[in-house]
Amino acid sequence: MAYQDVMLHIGGKWRAAQGGKTIDIINPATEEVIGKLAHASQADLDEALEHAAKGFDQWRKVSPYERAKIMRKAAALLRERLDSVAVLLTTEQGKPLAEAKAELNGAVDVIEWFAEEGRRAYGRVIPPRLPGVYQLSLREPVGVVAGFTPWNFPVNQAVRKISAALAAGCAFILKGPEETPASCAELVRAYVDAGVPAGVVQLVFGIPAEISEYLIPHPVVRKISFTGSTAVGKHLASLAGKYMKRATMELGGHAPALVFNDANLDNAVNILAANKFRNAGQVCIAPTRFLIQEDVYEPFLDKFIAKCKAVKVGNGLEEGTTMGPLANDRRLRAMDEFVSDAVGKGAKLRTGGKRSGNKGYFYEPTVLTDVTPEMRAMNEEPFGPVALFMPFKSYDEAIAEANRLQYGLASYAYTHDTGRATALAGDIESGLIGINHHGLAVPETPFGGIKDSGYGSEGGAEGLEPYLITKFVSQASL
Ligand code: NAD
Repeated sequence: MAYQDVMLHIGGKWRAAQGGKTIDIINPATEEVIGKLAHASQADLDEALEHAAKGFDQWRKVSPYERAKIMRKAAALLRERLDSVAVLLTTEQGKPLAEAKAELNGAVDVIEWFAEEGRRAYGRVIPPRLPGVYQLSLREPVGVVAGFTPWNFPVNQAVRKISAALAAGCAFILKGPEETPASCAELVRAYVDAGVPAGVVQLVFGIPAEISEYLIPHPVVRKISFTGSTAVGKHLASLAGKYMKRATMELGGHAPALVFNDANLDNAVNILAANKFRNAGQVCIAPTRFLIQEDVYEPFLDKFIAKCKAVKVGNGLEEGTTMGPLANDRRLRAMDEFVSDAVGKGAKLRTGGKRSGNKGYFYEPTVLTDVTPEMRAMNEEPFGPVALFMPFKSYDEAIAEANRLQYGLASYAYTHDTGRATALAGDIESGLIGINHHGLAVPETPFGGIKDSGYGSEGGAEGLEPYLITKFVSQASL
């Protein structure tokens, strides 16, 4: 499938924006313009809102059993198209083709999970105080949802939101990622081609702030769901609060990875290095602060640097590439700024630390040691292939550093001591904890952060909850 211009999907039709405005889409590996993206106007949003209201009215009346059939068909279509959609994803986002395929396989899995989970949106029957009275707690879809998803996983960030919403009986207006729109549009196409009625899933692109500021206050929209940076998340959450809209916020992270002296070092280094450089580090749950117990610090660091040197940076479409370019030039500039700030404040650059080549947004896998809390990278989410190394002496010292930041998304720990593993699970302040392995983002388990990393969950039975309201009915027989 060749890369093509990307359209809006409104009221069951793929179409250009009213007024015909477009923006360029760039391949991050070559910096070439690969297509044009339709850029929604306010008139387009009004139309989408009108169709969403009608779509919701129709979809809420479709039984969860029938919804599940359509959703499973969408999953089958996406699976059928997986190889060609993966090429689009790599071309616009940069990640190696194998990672693009893994993302799409994951998306199929998410759709199938929520298709079934929608059939389990159970209510309750509550024992009454009077004979002949039935007290029912019913679960109903919240209504029209507006979702805002980013460019790092153009399909997977969107599929969790859309699938949970549709399984619950909601209609969804997605503002997709402008820099990586084609693969996200293919996800929507799978749903549309599977037979979701017009207005139930719609897709718009444009200026993010203009779209969110128009959709969130609009009375048709009952809930929002956002994935992206903490700064933007706080802004959207305050807008949602002002207009009394429900909100799910999946925001940034700065994951600590604690490695104790009794850990299996090879296991720890293999898993942590693979997850540091997956998607060139542009992953909200990527390990970032490597806190290593001092007696294994040097051997762990040596093994990790060897892993960095083995990473093959290149165009994600080329065979053998294990890390693609950063997704946009903002990340390239950000990496340079983080590294020069850290080095200026005394950090040692052990490997990497610069752009790779002069075409495409490639950056070398980077390790900084001797880092301190004064450095920007130790406080802001690097969102790139930069690993920060710090030795620690005691358990308490490691926990204090792990919990120092306002982020609380993911954390990792490696130890052989089961007592310590249990204590860690209680002491670390984060929504997700991987102990002795990674395993944090499968459809059947909860996914979400605490503190400044947001609220709400996008996986497991908890993932359906935000799309349901509770209605209590007390009914007496005549
Ligand atoms: P950004 O903070 O401006 O944008 C982040 C995402 O939010 C983008 O998808 C963008 O389109 C969207 N966005 C921005 N302003 C918005 C608004 N007013 N309304 C609705 N959506 C809005 O900057 P960026 O350069 O794209 O990313 C920078 C940082 O964002 C990264 O360093 C990382 O910390 C974070 N980020 C996190 C995730 C994640 O998975 N949690 C994904 C992408 C980016």
